Order: sequence, then C-alpha cells, then structure tokens
Amino acid sequence: MNDNLTKIRPGNVKNFEIRCDFCGCTLKGNIVNDIVCRANDLGWKYDYENDRVICRNCQKESKMNNNLLALIDGRDKAKASVAAYEKRIMAIICDAVRDIIPDLEGWLGTPDNPNKMIFLSEQFGHCYERMPKEKNENWENLHSLIEEIFPELRYQLDDNDIYLSPEEQIKIIKRLKKLRGEKNEKKKS
Ligand SMILES: [Zn+2]
Repeated sequence: MNDNLTKIRPGNVKNFEIRCDFCGCTLKGNIVNDIVCRANDLGWKYDYENDRVICRNCQKESKMNNNLLALIDGRDKAKASVAAYEKRIMAIICDAVRDIIPDLEGWLGTPDNPNKMIFLSEQFGHCYERMPKEKNENWENLHSLIEEIFPELRYQLDDNDIYLSPEEQIKIIKRLKKLRGEKNEKKKS
C-alpha cells in the first residue's frame, strides 16, 4: 500500500462533505469534525502526495497504484497546476513591459501543446509592415528576447510575430533583467 496515506483531516472536508477522488462516493454531515471522524472510522485515507482522498473500497482495489485512469487523472491535475503557474508567469511579463507594448496579453495553449505560453499584441503583432525591410536582421521577436533572459522558458514560448526594433529591445531586455533580479549590463558590442 502507498506510504503517503494519512488520516483524513478537516482540510479534506469541503462544503460539509468529503468525496473519494476515485469513485466519487461522499460522506456528508453538519459538523466538519464529525465527518472527519466518520471517514477515519470507515477507513478512508488521504494521499497527501497526490492530494486525493480515497475511500476504503478504492484502497482495497488498489486503484491508486495501478489504475491507469488514476494515473491519467493525476497527470491532468499536474497539468492544471502547471497551467496556473504559466498564467502567472505570462501576467508578470506582460505587466513588466506594459508601457512599451500596451496591449500585450498572454494566451495559454495551442491545439498541439496546451502548455505553450503565447504572447499576443494587436499593435505589435504580425508586424511585417512595421518592420523596415532593410533593417530586418536587427529586429528580434519578443519570445526570443524573453528566452534570452529566461533560458528556463526556452521552447515553451511563442508570440504572434511581435518583432521589436533595436531600441525597443533594449527597453524590454532592461525590464526582463529587472524581473530576473539582474542589474542591466551594458549591451555587448
Ligand atoms: Zn472510492
């Protein structure tokens, strides 16, 4: 049996009921501590590592270790948690460069990759017109700049072709470095 199983605690009770995260059966009551006692008497357990409640029957069937559906469910929960972090990451980056790209917003997910972080701007996106042809080489797109300062995010970002002029890049890099807690170095020649 799983080592991470502990007794049921009051935190497992939500809206005066406790629910088995595998079969969905519930225990209800008017007093949280009574529900907790009853669950423990009935042999319900809390799996703190995976943050789920398991009734006695579901433990017997050892669904939590072997059941493919439980693993898929665990994976979905983990992805939802990743998504919450990614939304916060995007919001912080958008806010940091708001005065440079006023309408920048984050969008999470493509059909291929639900955890891809995409930056969108109507004003700066699709900006082949904004970008002078002869200076193309010096223009850099936003997600490349972010990846440069935050290599941890490499291959997880995209944008709607938000290309930035060298002057805009300097401003954006300054903001990103500030987010990272680095002082802005003089630009390498
Ligand atoms: Zn159950």
